[in-house]
Amino acid sequence: MKKLLLVAALMLPALVARAETEAARIAAASEEVIATATDNAVTDQSINCSDGLGVTRVAEVDTAGGGEYGEQYRPTPLLQDKEVVLTFDDGPHPVHTREILDALAAECTKATFFYVGRMLKNFPEIAKQVQAEGHTVGTHTYSHRNLGATSLGSAEQQIESTFNIADEVLPDGVAPFFRFPYLSDPKRVRDYLAKRNIAVFGIDVDSWDWRVRSPEMVIRNVLTGLDRKGKGIILFHDIQARTAAAMPTLLAELKKRGYKVVHIVPKSKLEAVAAVEPASPTPRKRARQRKAANH
Ligand SMILES: [Zn+2]
Repeated sequence: MKKLLLVAALMLPALVARAETEAARIAAASEEVIATATDNAVTDQSINCSDGLGVTRVAEVDTAGGGEYGEQYRPTPLLQDKEVVLTFDDGPHPVHTREILDALAAECTKATFFYVGRMLKNFPEIAKQVQAEGHTVGTHTYSHRNLGATSLGSAEQQIESTFNIADEVLPDGVAPFFRFPYLSDPKRVRDYLAKRNIAVFGIDVDSWDWRVRSPEMVIRNVLTGLDRKGKGIILFHDIQARTAAAMPTLLAELKKRGYKVVHIVPKSKLEAVAAVEPASPTPRKRARQRKAANH
């Protein structure tokens, strides 16, 4: 509790409020997904791609030496005007991820999913389906930890254990793509990721889908943000029912307004380090992990 108070005192109040609300949301989502885990219905649909949103181009991202994308970082040439990248955090979710996959498939478009280790452990089949449908899968820590409020050793463990889980689960391996929970990205962890040849994806446009009440608000937030910025990496969460409900209309609206989807894929695969347990490592084990990461 003392530690929590100290963290709260040190951080911006808005970030703390967001972190606490989002942590509660993720805990609730984990309970919900366990309750719905037996629902494995797969819908079959015939898809006509000729008039869908589609994918305008595939951007191969070279992660050698890291790389940072999104408005909180230095500008990059990743996206041209009217180009967007669709990204979904916090899953996989056995119900809403499938709904979102159906919406993406109906428009023949592709997205990137940043997955949480403990969700990957609970729902590996959903993650496999995401990859099998041609989307990119990166990671988002093991337990959605705020890495701005943890030691570097603990951050490394959160990151590496989840990349290892994802790499084991996914037949084609995990992309060396990472997003910080709460977008809380201390320099020491960014430096570590760069050394590991893992790219960091921030955001340009926030759907605020974890906070608003309706699918209509999700759509409005994205379109307003895009109108203002003209392009960008869009943040959604595939554990949210309202996001899944918003997706068909939102994708159709993006096409109508002339936005073009860019699918990001890694140039090289992740170079996994030796097995890392999600539990707290001993100092000796941590030293071993650091040593392994240096190679
Ligand atoms: Zn998240």
